[in-house]
Amino acid sequence: MNRRGALTCLCGLSLGLLSQSALAKTELASVPLAQHELGMRAAIAIAAQNASYPFGAAITNSKSGKILAQGVNKTFSNPVLHGEMVCINQYVAQHGNQGWANLILYTTGEPCPMCMSALIWSGIGGVVYGSSANTIKKSGIDIFTFSAKEINQGNNFSQTQLLGGILEAECDSLFANRKITTPINA
Ligand SMILES: [Zn+2]
Repeated sequence: MNRRGALTCLCGLSLGLLSQSALAKTELASVPLAQHELGMRAAIAIAAQNASYPFGAAITNSKSGKILAQGVNKTFSNPVLHGEMVCINQYVAQHGNQGWANLILYTTGEPCPMCMSALIWSGIGGVVYGSSANTIKKSGIDIFTFSAKEINQGNNFSQTQLLGGILEAECDSLFANRKITTPINA
């Protein structure tokens, strides 16, 4: 085989591997909107359990849409227990540390750098959020200036799929109407 033939061969091989991995993983854009909305409704439902910080999350099977775990912000008991972290813990407790590539996490608000990093470390197939970080900020909640997209792109080892704006109006109203509590040290 001449050099040109060998190069063509290598290119064909890498293309083959690419399409194989693309087929194995569910593309967020190809998931029906109704399935995304069901996942987000599970996140919204549990968010109602925290009237001040209505961050709710749900993990679903990306193919069937089945809800596998839910979580709500519990920072009143532990500062790292954002809704996404509670949901990740709940998933592992019930299903073990496996199957991440075929899961989607739905969250009412754009994930912060801590949660986005944890989701990237998990190898989850996709992350879908309702309200943007800017909208959350307008409700008086402090947020980082790094967006979830920037955190996702800020490494060279793993990235997940990210989609925002699902049931955005409903999620925005959760934050706009949240119960503002006086900080203990005020
Ligand atoms: Zn977070």
